[in-house]
Amino acid sequence: KKARYAAMRDDASVTKDGVPITLMINAGLRDDMSALATTGAEGVGLFRTEFQFLISATLPQRERQQRFYRDVLEAAGDKPVIFRTLDIGGDKALPYLKDETSEEENPALGWRALRLSLDHAGLMKTQARALIEASAGRTLHVMFPMVSEPWEFDAAKAIFEGQMKFLGKQKKQLPSKIRYGAMLEVPALAETLDILLPKIQFLSIGTNDLTQFLFAADRADPRLAERYDWLSPAILRFIKRVVTATQGHDVDVAICGEMGGRSLEALALIGLGIRRLSITPAAVGPVKAMIRTADHAAIGAKMTELLAMPTANLRTELSAWAAAQGI
Ligand code: PEP
Ligand code: MG
Repeated sequence: KKARYAAMRDDASVTKDGVPITLMINAGLRDDMSALATTGAEGVGLFRTEFQFLISATLPQRERQQRFYRDVLEAAGDKPVIFRTLDIGGDKALPYLKDETSEEENPALGWRALRLSLDHAGLMKTQARALIEASAGRTLHVMFPMVSEPWEFDAAKAIFEGQMKFLGKQKKQLPSKIRYGAMLEVPALAETLDILLPKIQFLSIGTNDLTQFLFAADRADPRLAERYDWLSPAILRFIKRVVTATQGHDVDVAICGEMGGRSLEALALIGLGIRRLSITPAAVGPVKAMIRTADHAAIGAKMTELLAMPTANLRTELSAWAAAQGI
């Protein structure tokens, strides 16, 4: 099977009826970048910048961050890399910031990700500058984690725009363009998409945290791991609502949680109108194989039918249907 997937590297990611589905990979280390070539993925849809911080004993200074981002971009060649700003705090505590984050009762709901970055303006300014300098002459794709309300996006973007101005005055070579995106992983953000969408170029749904927050179920608790299914109507209807809300806006919508890397889940997502998936590299082959045997119109109709049914879990129905279709 591995050899079969490797042989599919250069095959187009397109459904049987000709609908292209963009497949990208999730990454966080320099070594992850080789997967772009081995899988044939179109880019990095989620680069977790906190990895560099987590494996470092001390806070990485700006030059070190910049060198790292430049290495990553060089390894990506012409393919885009979406850098997510720091998602630390809570369970991803940094030893050198520990005092500030270790006292929380509910770290997942705590002072983490963009919340921490906005309060630590120096940290975020430094990262913004490192990303901008590393992207000189090319497009910088940046996205913010755990956006809960649109003003948080505005505040984060303002930090990047401020650094652009500052570096422009210093006659530094700037990125040719910055594309801004938000992660949708806090359910509240779905209620204000009409305000957020005109401001952003892309939206990436983080189904790991979204599931945790939607079901109020700790993503790290093994006793809950099997209890709530990604193929439950709650998750699928939620995602469908987000996709519908983006219609008429010039915004790319992607999934970057682990859900997108499971073939049946990916099939369901495509049926909900998702055209971009950022997944773990090992999933690119299996998911592409699924895409090439699926009929986009048929899965769309099937998902509409399934979501209207009073069924608690769509997994049984959907897997039976997929098997009958030869997917
Ligand atoms: C997510 O929450 O779905 C996600 C992609 O980000 P992380 O797993 O890094 O929290
Ligand atoms: Mg997340």
